[in-house]
Amino acid sequence: MLTSSLTGKSVIVTGGSKGIGKGIARVFAAHGAKVLIAARHLKDAEACAAELAKAGGTVSAVAADVTKLADMEAMAKTAVERHGGLDVLCANAGIFPQAKIEDMAPEIWDEVMDTNLKGTFLSVKACVPHLKKSKQGRIVLTSSITGPVTGYPGWTHYGATKAGQLGFMRTACIELAKYGITVNAVLPGNIITEGLAGLGEEYQRSMAASVPLKHLGTVEDIGHAAAYFASKEAGYVTGQTIIVDGGQILPESLEALASA
Ligand code: NAP
Repeated sequence: MLTSSLTGKSVIVTGGSKGIGKGIARVFAAHGAKVLIAARHLKDAEACAAELAKAGGTVSAVAADVTKLADMEAMAKTAVERHGGLDVLCANAGIFPQAKIEDMAPEIWDEVMDTNLKGTFLSVKACVPHLKKSKQGRIVLTSSITGPVTGYPGWTHYGATKAGQLGFMRTACIELAKYGITVNAVLPGNIITEGLAGLGEEYQRSMAASVPLKHLGTVEDIGHAAAYFASKEAGYVTGQTIIVDGGQILPESLEALASA
C-alpha cells in the first residue's frame, strides 16, 4: 500500500517552506515519512516544520540555497544525520519572476536558470551518493505545464527551465537506474499557493474558468502525485511525467470549453 511504503522514509523537499513544497512535505509527513525542508530563509522553514510537525509528522528544517553545491551537500548530510539515511529527494524549489523577452535583463534569465535548472542538477548531484544506499531511492522533480506543454507571455526563461528539467530527467533516469534510483516529474497546472491566494478571489475565479474541472489545484494535489512516484509501488516507473492540472491543457479552443 502506498502509505505504508513511505513510512519511516527519509525525504528532502527543497523549497519546502511554502506553496507546493509545503504541500508535498505535508503529504509525506502524513504518510509517516521523516521530512527535511530546505529553503533559503530558515525562519520560514522552521515555522513551516513546526506547523507540520504539530499535525503529527517528523519534520525539520535546514537553510540551503539550491544554487550552491556546498549548501546542497550540507543539506543531504543533515538528512542523513537526522534520519539515518536518505530515500527521497523532491527537487521542488523554483522561482518565476515574469519578464517579456524585450524587457528581460540577462541577469533575470541567469537567476531563473540557476535556481530552477542548475538547482535541480545540484540538488540531485549532492543527494545521489546517499540515495544510492537506499533500497528505495527516488527523485521527484517539480516541473510545470508551462514550458513542457504550454506557453505564457513573460515566462520564456521559466518555461525553458521547466522543459529543461524534463530533458535532464530523461538522461538522469538512465544514469541512475543501475543504483535502483528512479527519476520522475510532476507537472502542476494552476495551484493555489499563498502567493496566488493573495491575488484575491476574483483572480482565482477567472483562472479557474479555463480549467475543465472548474477549480484550481491544491498543493496537496501535487503532494499526492509526488508520493506516488516516491512509493515502493512506483518502483518500475522512471523517466515519466504526470500532469496535475484539472484538465487545463486539454480544450483545443475556448469554444471547446464553453460547449461542454
Ligand atoms: P513559492 O510558493 O514561491 O515557494 C517557493 C519555495 O522555494 C520557497 O520555499 C522558497 O523559500 C524556495 N526557494 C526559492 N528559491 C530558492 C533557492 N535558491 N534555494 C532554496 N529554496 C528556494 O513557489 P510555488 O508556487 O510553490 O512553486 C514551487 C515549484 O512548483 C516551482 O518549481 C514552480 O516552478 C512549480 N510550479 C508552481 C505552480 C503554481 O501554480 N504555483 C505551477 C507549476 C509549477 P526561500 O525563498 O526561503 O528560499
